[in-house]
Amino acid sequence: MSITPRKASDRDGYLMMPLVKNIPEPKHLGWRRTTCPACGRECWERPLPEGFDRAAFDGMLCTECTLRTV
Ligand SMILES: [Zn+2]
Repeated sequence: MSITPRKASDRDGYLMMPLVKNIPEPKHLGWRRTTCPACGRECWERPLPEGFDRAAFDGMLCTECTLRTV
């Protein structure tokens, strides 16, 4: 039996980056401080799950821009 919740080839819209103003301290060692390309506010870039390629996503936006865009 094989469980495949998602394929790495699936497109998944935008990667959501939590805003630093909402989460001042990183919740994970891999989080990297960056800025949202849409609004320029500081947010956290999270490492992609294993097997996922950044090219499979439309882009990366902070949580608020993601909500506005979708
Ligand atoms: Zn933004």
